[in-house]
Amino acid sequence: MNKGKFIVFEGIDGSGKGTQINILVEEMKRQGRTVYQTAEPTNSVTGGILRDALGGFTDRNAHELSAMFLTDRIFHNSNKINGIKQFIEKGVDVVCDRYYYSSFAYQGIDADLKWVMDMNLNCKEILKPDLCIFLDIDSKSSDERISKNRLEREIYEEKSVQEKVRKRFLEVFGLLKDSENVKIVDASRSISEVSADIINIYNEFKGDF
Ligand code: ADP
Repeated sequence: MNKGKFIVFEGIDGSGKGTQINILVEEMKRQGRTVYQTAEPTNSVTGGILRDALGGFTDRNAHELSAMFLTDRIFHNSNKINGIKQFIEKGVDVVCDRYYYSSFAYQGIDADLKWVMDMNLNCKEILKPDLCIFLDIDSKSSDERISKNRLEREIYEEKSVQEKVRKRFLEVFGLLKDSENVKIVDASRSISEVSADIINIYNEFKGDF
């Protein structure tokens, strides 16, 4: 049996990941694929501790966050109930909202980037995505989208932080250009323009298998 494909969406908050994942997953299903849609942090206990920290309720430094994201990601890959690996083995495609690139871009600002990258990229329990779609948008535009829809902010959601994170994402993709399959999409356009590009990228990617 052919293995499933593992697709990850990345981008700063408000870049449109949730919106575009829903559209792509519908398209994949329409094309006859079986798809498992998931996100990080997960619903594990560690995921809950992470959400608590990201919401600013508990103060955690970047090293603690990096280690907890690593633990949560290993659980996300390997747990017996809904782990990514078992779906991929069964031929189910997995589409995930955020993955290790987010650890590099967010925690990699205050924690040592090499350390964060090494522990994620060299862990055999953590699958490498077949495709990463990065939704690129400037922090001013994403901030306007967030402001329209939410009253509260997470710890990383200040505009100045988001701009740093966006730069860090792009730096990291530069470092990983020979080893990871990353496609950068201009996410500042309308929902339908962005999704048209993503579906083209997916169809081209699908042509490879
Ligand atoms: P993320 O998951 O990256 O935080 P969302 O998909 O939740 O982003 O989108 C954040 C907000 O912006 C939502 O209210 C969504 O409806 C809106 N949005 C998403 N994509 C676009 C777009 N291309 N243009 C305008 N608004 C958008």
